[in-house]
Amino acid sequence: MNAPMQPNMHFHKVELKPKDYKNETTAFWCAGCGHYGVLTGLLRALSEIGVDPNYLVNVSGIGCSSRLPYFVQSYKMHTLHGRAGPVATGVQLARPDLAVVVTGGDGDGFSIGGGHMPHMARKNINMTYILMDNRVYGLTKGQVSPTSQQAMKASTTPYGGVEDGMDPVLYMLTYGATYVAQAFAGNAKLAAQLIKGGMEHKGFAFINLLSQCPSFNELDTAVTFRNACELVPEGHDTSDVSAAMLAVHKAKQEGRIASGLLYKTERPTLDQNMAQLVQNVGGHKDYDLRKIIDLSRP
Ligand code: SF4
Ligand code: MG
Repeated sequence: MNAPMQPNMHFHKVELKPKDYKNETTAFWCAGCGHYGVLTGLLRALSEIGVDPNYLVNVSGIGCSSRLPYFVQSYKMHTLHGRAGPVATGVQLARPDLAVVVTGGDGDGFSIGGGHMPHMARKNINMTYILMDNRVYGLTKGQVSPTSQQAMKASTTPYGGVEDGMDPVLYMLTYGATYVAQAFAGNAKLAAQLIKGGMEHKGFAFINLLSQCPSFNELDTAVTFRNACELVPEGHDTSDVSAAMLAVHKAKQEGRIASGLLYKTERPTLDQNMAQLVQNVGGHKDYDLRKIIDLSRP
C-alpha cells in the first residue's frame, strides 16, 4: 500500500520578511525585465510559508533567468544548460526534508532540457519548477525559443518565424504534473500565491510565469502579457485535467492566456514510492538512500 499523502508542511519554519530572503547580491537583469517580478513573487511566497533558508535549495540551469538563485538566501546550484531538473531531482531524493525550487527559462527547460520535463512530471518529483517564460533566448541576445510565437522577429528569424510556439502548460498537463499554474510575472501577488501553493503541494508543481524580455522580444511585452492573462472562471474544477486543458485551449482561441491555478491532484511522489520500496524489501522504517545502496550490495 502506498504511503498516505501529506502536504509539504514538514518545511523547517522561521519567521522572515520577504526582504530577508534576498541576499546581498544585487539582481542584475536589464531594466524592465520581467524576471524581477518572478524574484519578488518567490521572496513573498517564501516569507508567507516561512521556509527556513537553511533548508531551501534553489537550482537553475543557464540563461538570464537562471541567475535568480544568486539573489536568494538559500543553498543553490547553478548547473549545466537544461540540467537543473535532474540535479534538483537528485537533491530531492537524497534529502526529502529540503524545499527544492528550480527556476529557469523556456529555452533551458523546453529546448535543451526538454527531454527531462515529462519524466519529472510523470515521476511526481516533490519539487517546485518555476518556468520564467519570456518566449526568447535572452542571454544569447535574442533567438527564437520553443515557446516563441511564429510572428516574432529575432536575430535568427529576421523576417518572422516558420514554426508555432509550444505551450508548456499543456505539455505539463499531458505528462502528469500534479500542480499546474500560470500567471503574468508582473502580477507579483498572484505569482506569490501560486508559488506558495506549489511549494506546499506534495508532488511536481509547475508554474509558468510569463516574463517579458524588453531587450529582445518586442512581441510579448509586459502590456501584452498583462492584458492577455485572464483568471480561469470561478467554478473552474482544478481536479479535472480535461477542464484545465480545455480552459487553456479556449483562452488561446480567444487570444487570451488562461491564468491562475489550472490543475491540482495528489498521488504518491517518487521519494515516497522509494521509501515504500525500501520498507517492503528491507523493513526500514525511514527512507534513506544509503540503505537502498547497502541493500543492493551482494
Ligand atoms: Fe531580462 Fe531579456 Fe535583459 Fe535577459 S536580455 S536580463 S531576459 S530583459
Ligand atoms: Mg527565455
